[in-house]
Amino acid sequence: MLSIVTLTLGPVQTNTYIVADPGTGEAIVIDPAARGDLIVDEAEKRGWRISSIWLTHAHFDHLAGAGAVADRCTPSPPVALHSADYSLWRFQGGAPLFGMQIDPGPEPTINLVHGQILFLGNNKFEVRHAPGHTQGHVIFYCSDEKVLFCGDVIFNGSIGRTDLPGGDFDTLIESIHAQILTLPDETRVLSGHGPETTVGEECRTNPFLVK
Ligand SMILES: [Zn+2]
Ligand SMILES: [Zn+2]
Repeated sequence: MLSIVTLTLGPVQTNTYIVADPGTGEAIVIDPAARGDLIVDEAEKRGWRISSIWLTHAHFDHLAGAGAVADRCTPSPPVALHSADYSLWRFQGGAPLFGMQIDPGPEPTINLVHGQILFLGNNKFEVRHAPGHTQGHVIFYCSDEKVLFCGDVIFNGSIGRTDLPGGDFDTLIESIHAQILTLPDETRVLSGHGPETTVGEECRTNPFLVK
């Protein structure tokens, strides 16, 4: 069982997901976009304890809240990121390209790799490397709960942009076909921006994928 709370935060309306194992009250935060104080408030209100921060990728709008989340939690939750996005992380997630300065929070200490299994209570999440939007983009798939957290790889009716440093359109399309469209149709797709969708819905209607 998983409990999922969605918060839409920051200058580009990024979805932050607080995902909890209701049995133990352990929670992880996927992409703390901004307002770390508010993210921790939401978890505490439900009696949840944040044990880790998982980043789908290192763009600033997915991690600008990490520092404040870490500051409020004891012990400080470790941050997980794919190593191919570390250089982007060190560059404040590209914030300076948009004329901004952010605090990227604690240095990532969990090095995500394709095929790795992450646990939240008894719930298993498979890490899938899905480059194209950024080089180190990963998605988190929980097959028991039929849910996918896919960051900026695919959106309801659209796909991630590929014009930022490290982006590549053909690589992104290949990642979507290999890592997302191979999942069961009924899989819930929770993206970094915009409303929830499913794998089947995008297969049938996403203008970037239907021929
Ligand atoms: Zn992004
Ligand atoms: Zn984004």
